[in-house]
Amino acid sequence: MSDATEYEGRAGDGTRAVRAGLPEPVKHEPTLPGPVFAAHFHLPGEVTGPYTYGRDDNPTWTLLERAVGELEAPGREDVETLVFASGMAAISAVLFSQVRAGDVVVLPSDGYQVLPLVRAQLEAYGVEVRTAPTGGDAQLEVLAGARLLWLESPSNPGLDVCDIRRLVEAAHAGGTLVAVDNTLATPLGQRPLELGADFSVASGTKQLTGHGDVLLGYVAGRDAEAMAAVRRWRKIVGAISGPMEAWLAHRSIATLHLRVDRQSATALRVAEALRERPEVSGLRYPGLPDDPSHKIASRQMSRYGCVVSFTLPSRVHAERFLEALRLVEDATSFGGVRSTAERRGRWGGDAVSEGFIRLSVGAEDPEDLVADLLRALDASAG
Ligand SMILES: *Cc1c(COP(=O)(O)O)cnc(C)c1O
Repeated sequence: MSDATEYEGRAGDGTRAVRAGLPEPVKHEPTLPGPVFAAHFHLPGEVTGPYTYGRDDNPTWTLLERAVGELEAPGREDVETLVFASGMAAISAVLFSQVRAGDVVVLPSDGYQVLPLVRAQLEAYGVEVRTAPTGGDAQLEVLAGARLLWLESPSNPGLDVCDIRRLVEAAHAGGTLVAVDNTLATPLGQRPLELGADFSVASGTKQLTGHGDVLLGYVAGRDAEAMAAVRRWRKIVGAISGPMEAWLAHRSIATLHLRVDRQSATALRVAEALRERPEVSGLRYPGLPDDPSHKIASRQMSRYGCVVSFTLPSRVHAERFLEALRLVEDATSFGGVRSTAERRGRWGGDAVSEGFIRLSVGAEDPEDLVADLLRALDASAG
């Protein structure tokens, strides 16, 4: 086992992705065992683990949790991973299990659009919430005395980046725990635990699973006591993943490396093409060498993700552009193998202008995708 862990720590990302979480081979058994559908398990006599009741644990989760752990923290046995029904279930599990009335929490002001609702709920429970933007490491300025610092880097949808290591050092110096929302980067783009964070939390609904057919979340953490509280939260709230979703997620992780490589490479090409267009402003992609995020991103990320954001001159212009696209579906979420885009302002809640577009680059041929985007820009210009 320790040999396997050592190997796993040294292997390349593709090798680790295809093998992540697989059990030891057993003659006549499948490589990845199918989903275990069970509300309860045979339990004669004393109550002992691992599998007793389906809200507490499930063998399909166990394999997926190992897989995610091997990607978030290769070769490290002190990291525990827990899967949840959704990214929000995972985020809430960390925040609500780690903080108490009277504590201070620092959130990004430009993070995922549900964070303001989380903020209101924390405040209703007597937690003080401070916010600051992701860019420029502005959260440093409101850190004093906080119990928990929540980072989202790159941020969704603005694609700003903060210096995770720098923020972790400042937070830990003051006894503050740090959680990083790693949804956009995926563990093949960034490993927050290796940058010092206490928790890496993500929505598996996006690129981790990548086919737009599963909702999932996870928390990976280094501190056994803190993770026990997260596990307890999962048990009392019951925000658990179904075995089928967990199995689909595990199956999808086998292609994570292929998808992330392909989609990041195409996203860079798309960003380069969009940059040439006069009607496009505010173009952001952390992989572009002159992007404001690039310098820090290049130090802490190994791949820059599949999301490109930019602004068209007006709401109407943006709507015409989305309508003219043929290969890009007008839909929310991101990270799937089929490209999607949306006018983010239609939801309200994000501080973006009316023409702001969040584009998620899929696995189509880059030439086809770039041609479709340019054609749609031409068609919407008039
Ligand atoms: C989508 C998303 C979430 C929430 O995940 P769900 O699986 O939809 O609950 C959290 N953080 C970020 C950055 C996201 O993009």
